[in-house]
Amino acid sequence: MIAERWRAARSSVPPGHLDAAGCNVPSDRVLDAMVSHLRRERERGGYAAVPGFTAPRSALAALTGAGAADVAFLESGTAAMAALLGGWRLRPGARVGFTRAEYGSTLMLLRRLAGERGWTLAELPADDHARLDLDALSAALRHGLDLVTLPHLPSHRGTAQPVREIGRLCREAGVPLVLDVCQSLGHVDVTGAGATAYVGTSRKWLAGPRGVGFLIVPGLTGDMDAPAPTLGGHVWLPDPPPGMPPGMPPGMQPGPVTRPLPGAARYESSESAVAARVGLGVAVLEHHALGPAEVRAHLAGLGAAARHTLDGRGGWRVVEPYEEPSAVVTLRPPPGADAVRTAAAAAGAGLLVSVAPVARAPLDLREPVLRVSPPPGTPQETLDALARFLDGC
Ligand SMILES: *Cc1c(COP(=O)(O)O)cnc(C)c1O
Repeated sequence: MIAERWRAARSSVPPGHLDAAGCNVPSDRVLDAMVSHLRRERERGGYAAVPGFTAPRSALAALTGAGAADVAFLESGTAAMAALLGGWRLRPGARVGFTRAEYGSTLMLLRRLAGERGWTLAELPADDHARLDLDALSAALRHGLDLVTLPHLPSHRGTAQPVREIGRLCREAGVPLVLDVCQSLGHVDVTGAGATAYVGTSRKWLAGPRGVGFLIVPGLTGDMDAPAPTLGGHVWLPDPPPGMPPGMPPGMQPGPVTRPLPGAARYESSESAVAARVGLGVAVLEHHALGPAEVRAHLAGLGAAARHTLDGRGGWRVVEPYEEPSAVVTLRPPPGADAVRTAAAAAGAGLLVSVAPVARAPLDLREPVLRVSPPPGTPQETLDALARFLDGC
């Protein structure tokens, strides 16, 4: 049912496409809405053409249990994470918990911020599948953490974290949780995690266009702001601002001061690729129309089928448990084979798979792995074709 409806919404789906986790296939309505918006910008003037975004913001936020005012659009998941962590006023000496499955660019960012601001990074113990050890998390929370960051589903493994339990433990300890849902939103159930903030991207399982990411911040506090104030997300206050105690806080410049707008708007700037946001909005509404739970069940089925079909073919071995409820399937090469060459050869044979290079998760990956991520509606024949291709490598 989902398969037919997904394909019907697309006048063409590239045959052999097995890279939804890299860049999914947007629907015709997504593309049409973007092109129409660009035409409206030309005809009416860009500023006059800006549509209301409340419905798409609500629809996106609802996937996590948050509300429209909690959503900020940015240009990528990476940019959203940089805005969130870069603007978080953690005290010097703050301890940030993370796992070895952390996404490469988030890890770069954490290390940069830790060096500059005196934060300490605390790697949390995880099992063979990089799944966080809940007892170890409890103990670490008791010993004092100021923040926990975690990819729900990493880029290089099809294994999902138990985010409900993790969210509950963090809330009980009063420690904010940042959940990277770039690979999970629209794919694996995120509801019930109750995170402080979610970081996501448009083009993967939500099947929106490239060039949009987002933050969802239901747990926003006064310590959280954009790393740089913008005219879109901040206002000038009169001098002296109402309610400001007498005497300037240290480091504050004389003259008018700025304040972030309420809610997630503080993370947005006034200029953006509006057409891309329009496209994401349509994609999210379509996702709701398909039924998020039905899409998840369909993708879990595709993941299981792909693991059964591919494991052992040409000596390539599936990394994650077969029954993992995700459609991200990673394959470790047999001796003498390599994922980069194999993915390039597969592309030549009309099969689009991707490689997760070591840089994607440098603390967890030892060698590049092949990543197969079928979009909804992928026929079994495509998986069979990939299996035969691996046999012949
Ligand atoms: C893709 C991805 C990101 C980064 O998102 P971009 O939009 O590519 O910047 C972050 N974390 C995970 C787990 C991802 O898969």
